[in-house]
Amino acid sequence: MRFFTFLFCGFISLSIYAKHSDIERFTVYSNVHGVSISTIGKHKVNSFWIEGEDGVIVIDTQWLLSDADIVLNHIADTVSQPITDILITHPHTDHFGGIQAFIDASPRKPIVHAGFDTARSIQHDEQGFLSSRKKQFTDNITSAVTIDHVLDDDQSFQIQGIEFNTITFRGNEAVATTLFYIASHDALFTGDMVNNDTMPIFYQGNIDGWIEQLEALKDRFPAETILFPGHGKPGRANELISRQLDVLKTYRNSIAASLFEHGTVNVTAMAQDIIARHPEYRQTAGIASVNAVVEQNILWILEDWRVKTSSASDLEGF
Ligand SMILES: [Zn+2]
Repeated sequence: MRFFTFLFCGFISLSIYAKHSDIERFTVYSNVHGVSISTIGKHKVNSFWIEGEDGVIVIDTQWLLSDADIVLNHIADTVSQPITDILITHPHTDHFGGIQAFIDASPRKPIVHAGFDTARSIQHDEQGFLSSRKKQFTDNITSAVTIDHVLDDDQSFQIQGIEFNTITFRGNEAVATTLFYIASHDALFTGDMVNNDTMPIFYQGNIDGWIEQLEALKDRFPAETILFPGHGKPGRANELISRQLDVLKTYRNSIAASLFEHGTVNVTAMAQDIIARHPEYRQTAGIASVNAVVEQNILWILEDWRVKTSSASDLEGF
């Protein structure tokens, strides 16, 4: 096991590339790096990479092949070793759409690892996300993905001398999310189960289940754990999980209170109120505005709760 230097001193060591205000680079440990790229709307997508003994491990691979190429350039800046392994946290295209660029850039095909549900969903395009995004992005997104190593819900495995642990939760931001924990670094990669300053999306979610899962996650990891989100800057786990819980509870409590008092929800007014209470949150998934995301979220939660509404929810795909 090589020696890992911890660079996190009260706050994330962050360098912002002056030439590209839509690209942010993170270095938290001497051998753990990340980059956030925003080319579609204000949707910032993270990829992380870890330098192992003889190769590089990538976690989540961007939405577009052209964005994946930017990550590859950043990886080449930090390390000369090849990419040997790719981990995918959940089956939304903004986390695996760029994977083919990483595969094509590697001398030997990297091993692709994902949880059982993520593997199933991506390989069969169960929700139609990939075919929908293929129409939008044409040849700038991967055509098909094969998962080489299907992971159990709670297992440990070694890559390049580093031990990873999986923690899988179903029915949150995605149909399932597999979190990766590296005990040697006290580092937790959460996909979109926990994001930073990014509006959650309730398209596939069960808000009550997601809240319960986050409470469990918060109890499980100490305050010092560093959390690497799917979108937004890395930070302390307890802080980021608390903020994620806070925004989810705003939605749940606002909708529940309105239904209790009035039997209905004024979607436009409630969306404005939620945005006013969380003004720093950005829009997600390429949806046109924060307002559109929040209004859509309210409708999805009502649908999930089987509350009859006059407006139908609508989404092309992730
Ligand atoms: Zn995402």
